[in-house]
Amino acid sequence: MDMDWLLGFIDVKAILIVILIFGPLERMLPARPQQPALRRAWTTDAVHCVVNRIPIGIGLGLVAALSIWLGDAAVPASFRASVAAQPLWLQTVILMLLADLIFYAMHRLFHTVPALWRIHAIHHSISDLDWLAAYRIHPLDQILTKGASLIPAFALGFSDAALAIFFVVFQWHTLLLHSNVRIGFGPFSWLVASPCFHHWHHANDPAHWNRNFAAQFPLWDILFGTAQMRRDAMPDRYGIEDPVPPGYGRQMVYPFQRESKDAA
Ligand SMILES: [Zn+2]
Ligand SMILES: [Zn+2]
Repeated sequence: MDMDWLLGFIDVKAILIVILIFGPLERMLPARPQQPALRRAWTTDAVHCVVNRIPIGIGLGLVAALSIWLGDAAVPASFRASVAAQPLWLQTVILMLLADLIFYAMHRLFHTVPALWRIHAIHHSISDLDWLAAYRIHPLDQILTKGASLIPAFALGFSDAALAIFFVVFQWHTLLLHSNVRIGFGPFSWLVASPCFHHWHHANDPAHWNRNFAAQFPLWDILFGTAQMRRDAMPDRYGIEDPVPPGYGRQMVYPFQRESKDAA
């Protein structure tokens, strides 16, 4: 069989670069030194990493196409042209802030509406955080939350360069947020989301639930009263008590199953 197709969709090069960067970083500055590199359920998350690329790629591609159509139909061409004419750094900062505000709102909604929580619970079922854990997510979760945050990116006329910077920064930032590292960004922790900031979002402790929804800027959590800006410690335990099953296939169907075991 021709392996090009398979290697293409796994994107071996990108994964190797990620391993070469985060492997040593997680050894040098571990949040939990006792956590082995091949920790519990790493194979499940490796399957998420490889297989989810297809549905998420298709879903976000559709959102991008719809958003461009929406922009053409509803946003005046002069407005889009004036956005694209702004300096690249300004476009990038505004795009990131705007996208993260929508991400914040969608993420909070996924924690609030029970049917959406069952989808988002897959991501929160991680009990060992590291860079690979960033990939454990239901594709619907990623398509709806990330997709919504991309609508202004494609509809308002931001330049291709601003979009490219945003995508690259977001991808690496997400991996860093989940990695098993003790990094809090010191005085900049209020400005940019740190691993410490997002690790508290995953804490398995009711005192810390529903905090730190932003993906990039703690500003949104501070403004809307959901920030948990601890810098002195990392959580003891991650995960949730919901009965999320192990294994990729069962996690894909879990959000749509009735809770039948309650009666047993
Ligand atoms: Zn969450
Ligand atoms: Zn997370």
